[in-house]
Amino acid sequence: MMRLKNRHLPQRTCIACRQIKEKRSLIRLVRAENGVAQVDISGKQPGRGAYLCPSRACWELVLKKDRLSYALRTKVSSDNRQTLLQYICDQPEEN
Ligand SMILES: [Zn+2]
Repeated sequence: MMRLKNRHLPQRTCIACRQIKEKRSLIRLVRAENGVAQVDISGKQPGRGAYLCPSRACWELVLKKDRLSYALRTKVSSDNRQTLLQYICDQPEEN
């Protein structure tokens, strides 16, 4: 995939809508050491990560159906999901 390594920006797939986008235009979620899912603002935190569009619809899809637990290989609690949903609701909508 990354054959021309200096010419392409890294890309990732949104776990909700499955669109492939530039990594920097997606928000990374990471499983912290205690198993809690967190927003990784730096994009560099160690741990299993998953990417989502900065779109409320994508977050709701993943959080309401709890697909995040699967993506991060952990059990994301409903409190945890609520916190994440709050995060995206506090972001200005891009589109
Ligand atoms: Zn998406």
